[in-house]
Amino acid sequence: MTVVEKLTSQDAMALENQYGAHNYHPLPVVLSRGEGVFMWDAEGKKYYDFLSAYSAVNQGHCHPRIVNAMTEQAKKLTLTSRAFYNDMLGQFERYATDYFGFDKLLPMNTGAEAVETAIKICRKWAYEEKGIPEEQAQIIVCKNNFHGRTTTIISFSNDEDARKNFGPYTPGFIKIEYDDTEALEKALESDKNIAGFLVEPIQGEAGVYVPSEGYLTKAKALCKKHGVLFIADEIQTGIARTGELLAVDHENVKPDMLILGKAISGGVYPVSAVLANDAVMDVIKPGQHGSTFGGNPVAAAVAMEALEVVKDEKLAENAERLGQQFRSGLNDYIKTSKIVKLVRGKGLLNAIVINDSEESETAWNICVALKENGLLAKPTHGNIIRFAPPLVINEEQLADCVSIIKKTLKEFEG
Ligand SMILES: *Cc1c(COP(=O)(O)O)cnc(C)c1O
Repeated sequence: MTVVEKLTSQDAMALENQYGAHNYHPLPVVLSRGEGVFMWDAEGKKYYDFLSAYSAVNQGHCHPRIVNAMTEQAKKLTLTSRAFYNDMLGQFERYATDYFGFDKLLPMNTGAEAVETAIKICRKWAYEEKGIPEEQAQIIVCKNNFHGRTTTIISFSNDEDARKNFGPYTPGFIKIEYDDTEALEKALESDKNIAGFLVEPIQGEAGVYVPSEGYLTKAKALCKKHGVLFIADEIQTGIARTGELLAVDHENVKPDMLILGKAISGGVYPVSAVLANDAVMDVIKPGQHGSTFGGNPVAAAVAMEALEVVKDEKLAENAERLGQQFRSGLNDYIKTSKIVKLVRGKGLLNAIVINDSEESETAWNICVALKENGLLAKPTHGNIIRFAPPLVINEEQLADCVSIIKKTLKEFEG
């Protein structure tokens, strides 16, 4: 006997509504299959995916090579815990450190865990290597950041929904404006106990805010001057999404710590990681950090294959080229549009800003209409719609999507 039944979309939504916590507000669509850039709902209607599970599915849904790596490994060995060695983790660590150019990797599962890991390593490094007095280490973060949902991470969020009534909050964070190197310099100069600067190279959740050219270069130089770790959260921007392997690569900036998640597994399995050189990573000794599932053999097999696919299929180059096609297609439309103010982004991480208040329902209604027209996207922060298809999308498919988006927007021009 099996507990799984074939459900209609209405039934599936009713079940989640009744038995699941209401911690999300999904678009009313129930998906049951995915392949490449497409997903199908329970009734068999086909959609272009323009969210890619928040950029986790960069390699496309159910990529056969990645799924095969997972199922082959799952038949052999799934989990040992780190109480023992397994014959896959070391291979993954060698592969990924070589791929991204760092000495060492610490494997975790979710993005938030990897951010927590980076925070812990940064603080420990500050006390043991930089000589900051006990309990005094500060980490600089940016306003409107998104780094995940744990208690510590939401402590330095300024999104009311993410924060309110979840206190008391973890201290030790200083918030400055994003894309403001003067604010960073001031913060670094006014406090001797700064351990690190944690930053998203493009603020994704905030609404795809691309900082001014040179921002990351200057920020890294300032960190170096003050002996502070530059920590890049590339969980959403990394793995070819913005047209380079990493978003920091656009400025040839090398972070002291790199945080990866989401597409490092092609969206097939939860895998995240922190990468750093020995001088930083070696502060972590046995017993000081860990995760039962972190670095398991399935994760290792999946992540290696997912990263190999990024190279073999030239996904960064594709994202760069099709990103330009996307923005230029929409810019043509925006010239005469009243409902859309602008399109911005890098590679295939883009967003449009709707000409209405943040509290309005317009962006949500546009996403519902896009769904009717066969394309799935989600508003972020009220009046902004993010467009981030799998990076395996081709020119013809992208042109089709641009026409779906234009056609839908036309329905909303007053
Ligand atoms: C999604 C995301 C996270 C959190 O990852 P989870 O896997 O959801 O915990 C952290 N930082 C950034 C920039 C993200 O986009």
